[in-house]
Amino acid sequence: MKKTALFLSLLVVIAFISYKMIADDTALFSSIDISETNLSTADNILNPQNNLQDSSNLEPDFEPAATETSPPTHTQTPVSTPELTSTSVPSGSPGSTPTPKPSSEPVSSSAETTTPTEPPAISISLEEALNIIPPEYQQLSYFNHEFAVRYVVYKELNPDFDYEKVITYVNIGLDFPFYSNINTISDTNRIDVLVNKYNKLPDHFVPQLEQLPASICAPGTGNHYLRKEAKEAFEKMHYDAKKLGLNITAVSTYRSIELQNRIWNKKVKSGRTVADVDRLNARGGHSEHNTGLAIDVIKNNYTVENTAEYKWYKDNAHLYGFIIRYQKGKENITGYSYEPWHLRYLGPELANEVYNSGLTYEEYYAKMLGH
Ligand SMILES: [Zn+2]
Repeated sequence: MKKTALFLSLLVVIAFISYKMIADDTALFSSIDISETNLSTADNILNPQNNLQDSSNLEPDFEPAATETSPPTHTQTPVSTPELTSTSVPSGSPGSTPTPKPSSEPVSSSAETTTPTEPPAISISLEEALNIIPPEYQQLSYFNHEFAVRYVVYKELNPDFDYEKVITYVNIGLDFPFYSNINTISDTNRIDVLVNKYNKLPDHFVPQLEQLPASICAPGTGNHYLRKEAKEAFEKMHYDAKKLGLNITAVSTYRSIELQNRIWNKKVKSGRTVADVDRLNARGGHSEHNTGLAIDVIKNNYTVENTAEYKWYKDNAHLYGFIIRYQKGKENITGYSYEPWHLRYLGPELANEVYNSGLTYEEYYAKMLGH
């Protein structure tokens, strides 16, 4: 029984790693049937939730507000992302060896990977894995026995990583390609919910939202909505900053999962590669903006770094419960490019801990909040 389980888990590892070679740039488009004209003042018509969308929220983090004006259709099918399970992964040939995912590797860039010359030694049992991993690392609170084989395989692929990093990264899921081995989040309303390329909100998830007063939103960006806790914290931060002569406004806040899918599809249809789009645009259910706990402030481009507002909030946002979620140089962990404008609400206590840890939220979560 145990041996069978081990054998299966090894198969899964091999299959996933092999799949990395093809996952990102192929087979994503069969269900995409989204017109370019659909990304307009989307969702303003049918129901109150749809009213939560306005032109400011049509574009993802990286670009200014959208200008499309044509009406949406409400019949399109949201993209079905390749949500792989251990049983649906195509088996690659054993000879198609995996590529390690060292920190220097571009995100989701199967096309850019190189093929190593030798396959990793992965034919080991759980017992063997536990004999290989130094005992002191097995004492770590976040060491997960069930992942022991994955730890050893990942270490084999990344010999320069120490076991602490290996265990952390495997717990995050980084031994699988982004957008594979996806977990659908069950505890969706937790303030500390982790949403990323491995953890997805259910398709029809909609949080309880409250509208932000227009006075704290960037002019011309329409109505904005956040969860109550995030809204109140942002208001407080806004007014405290205002006393210092700073103007921190909301540019982009809650987006529905459906809208997120449409944005992603539109970006891909515009001619960019899937890997390129994935660096800046989340797929539906995988965006923090779908939680009602994320907010892009001031302006969602890199000129934000030149503002006095940024210089203040990078050192103070955590006191209000926000972290700058996508840090510079951590793209290989978060799955996203650096985004100095994107704040995520975690509550003051947790935000303070994450801020002081210097870790990405993925790393902090993997070490402190669960596996
Ligand atoms: Zn954002």
